[in-house]
Amino acid sequence: MSRNERQLGSTYNDLAVLSIVPVAVAVLTLASWILAHWEIGPVFVNAALAIGAVIFGGFQRFVSGFKDAFKRKITVNVFVVVALLATMAISEFRPAAVIVFIMAVAGALESYTLDKTRKSIRDLLDFAPSLATVRRQGEEVIVPVAELLVGDVVVVKPGARIPVDGVVIAGASSVNQAPITGEFMPVEKFLGSSVFSGTLNESGRLDIRTEKVGEGTTLARIVHLVQEAQGTRAPIQNMADRFTTWFLPAVVILAIGAFVMSGDVKVAVSVLLVACPCAFAIATPTAVTAGVSNLARRAVLIKGGIFLELGHKITRLLVDKTGTFTFGRPRVEGIISLNGKSPEDILRLACIAEKYSEHPLARSILTAGKERKLDIPDPEQFESATGMGVKSRWNSAKILVGKQTFLQEAGVTIVPRVDREIVKQSAQGRTAVLVAHNEEVIGLLAIADEIRPEISKTIRLLKTMGVERVTMLTGDHPLVAEAVATAIGVDDFQAELLPEQKQEFVRKLQAEGHVVGMIGDGINDAPALALADVGIAMGAAGTDVAIETADVTLMNDNLSGVADFMWMSAKVMRRIKLNIFFSMIYNVIGLTLGVMGMMTPIIAVIFQEAGCVTVVFSSTLLLWAKRRTVSV
Ligand code: ADP
Ligand code: MG
Repeated sequence: MSRNERQLGSTYNDLAVLSIVPVAVAVLTLASWILAHWEIGPVFVNAALAIGAVIFGGFQRFVSGFKDAFKRKITVNVFVVVALLATMAISEFRPAAVIVFIMAVAGALESYTLDKTRKSIRDLLDFAPSLATVRRQGEEVIVPVAELLVGDVVVVKPGARIPVDGVVIAGASSVNQAPITGEFMPVEKFLGSSVFSGTLNESGRLDIRTEKVGEGTTLARIVHLVQEAQGTRAPIQNMADRFTTWFLPAVVILAIGAFVMSGDVKVAVSVLLVACPCAFAIATPTAVTAGVSNLARRAVLIKGGIFLELGHKITRLLVDKTGTFTFGRPRVEGIISLNGKSPEDILRLACIAEKYSEHPLARSILTAGKERKLDIPDPEQFESATGMGVKSRWNSAKILVGKQTFLQEAGVTIVPRVDREIVKQSAQGRTAVLVAHNEEVIGLLAIADEIRPEISKTIRLLKTMGVERVTMLTGDHPLVAEAVATAIGVDDFQAELLPEQKQEFVRKLQAEGHVVGMIGDGINDAPALALADVGIAMGAAGTDVAIETADVTLMNDNLSGVADFMWMSAKVMRRIKLNIFFSMIYNVIGLTLGVMGMMTPIIAVIFQEAGCVTVVFSSTLLLWAKRRTVSV
């Protein structure tokens, strides 16, 4: 067992451990049968062996059965205990032992199969190396990852896995990030790039400054999240539980009735055994667990069973423009001087004003400044208005950078010439960012962001999956929104929205009875993501906030993860219904045969456990399910 597994409190059981109980029960039962068959030794010895088998194999069930009974709860375990005690009461010790044996075998088989669905995620942690090469006082030493500190410089050679989350401070390489993003295409890493623990350094040597180690790494957090999600309940489970609460007492009455009619305890015992609604009880959680695992391997993380239930019901999909439909790597494509100042000066003032802004547009402006090797001093004052722009002070002058309405609200007049330029740029799909110096517009930065190539196809695909309308939401100018919306092929768009208006839009659709899915970058769309029925954050690798706030997180930048999610959601729900239907049929047939006295307790338990194992297998198959690629 690796260190990581122990840290996560692994419950992994291997086949050898799982076989202990069934084998021990089998040996005791067989010994009892041999002694009885050849009449060796006193009768009480073979009876004691069989009773020993029942107690050893059924110990856990006895304990929980009695506990439940004390709490006046009729559960599956109470059923089993009553059935076993009744069988023993009529001195059928060996049949009781055989029943326990069958249950033990089925139990082991189920644990083994179910563990596969969980283990596939835990295995991700094995990608994280346990040793790291660190540079300390000019020397390279190999230390256990557990001893690494934030700030340590780790050296990763080509072909090795990266042991920490951190930032490249020297070297360049391509890195396969499949454990995090599900994508095998290597990503180029160079000075300043973020890298993740568990990813594979393919070509060059990298010096990495450690930012997160062990449990704090993205990889460890993914595994934790998935494990938590697997433990959550889907609402459909409550329906299953309600069913069991009335089903169990009904079976007790049936068993008593069967006993009264036949006068045979064995008939009553068979009824109790065959009616165990075990298959029914595990129909939902096993399918949810397998579905969550399957998606995690596609780098789609979901927060719980409820979202699997909602996903395929989404009728309205809202998508943020910047960073979602577009690459989120906007570039300054033009600097238009509107008041005689040189483009260089306009850009420099804009850079000073935006120096502390985290907005993608601000970053693109700063990148343009860096490319032109401009010297960018700190602003004296800085204030950012979400979804509007920034207000800064430098060299005793007021600098405003942002959209038209933002500047107007601050008292800047937009002369017709500026207005014409905004319209001209916007119509080409470029975001026009205005720069004002002391209440006067001095220039305009035309910023464009490339549309992701796969978007149109994914939108068409999503519309074959029950989504009625895809709406683009943006804080950008209506003309930019229109240009992008047309290029992509969304149904409609809403432009010039502030973050709270995006949330308002979600609320309006929900009031109309829609199940609303919202896709955003997770940071500036947080209010809308939070209110939507399913909030989906895209390209979340490395952004903690997005992983924490969204219901569904796509670790890579590919919108087709949404299609994966909706597809799996529908599939899991169909599988749950199939499982439930199947266990009902099983129960009805079993109960009918049982009540008619056509079952022995042993056949009853085989029948019942077969149903259970089938459901487990049926759910586990979801692990390997693949989405068919359809041409749309
Ligand atoms: P979106 O809804 O497309 O993600 P935002 O709501 O973040 O966009 O911003 C809406 C608009 O506000 C942008 O198109 C831009 O015109 C303006 N804006 C917001 N923040 C800034 C900033 N830091 N610098 C310049 N303009 C900004
Ligand atoms: Mg945005």
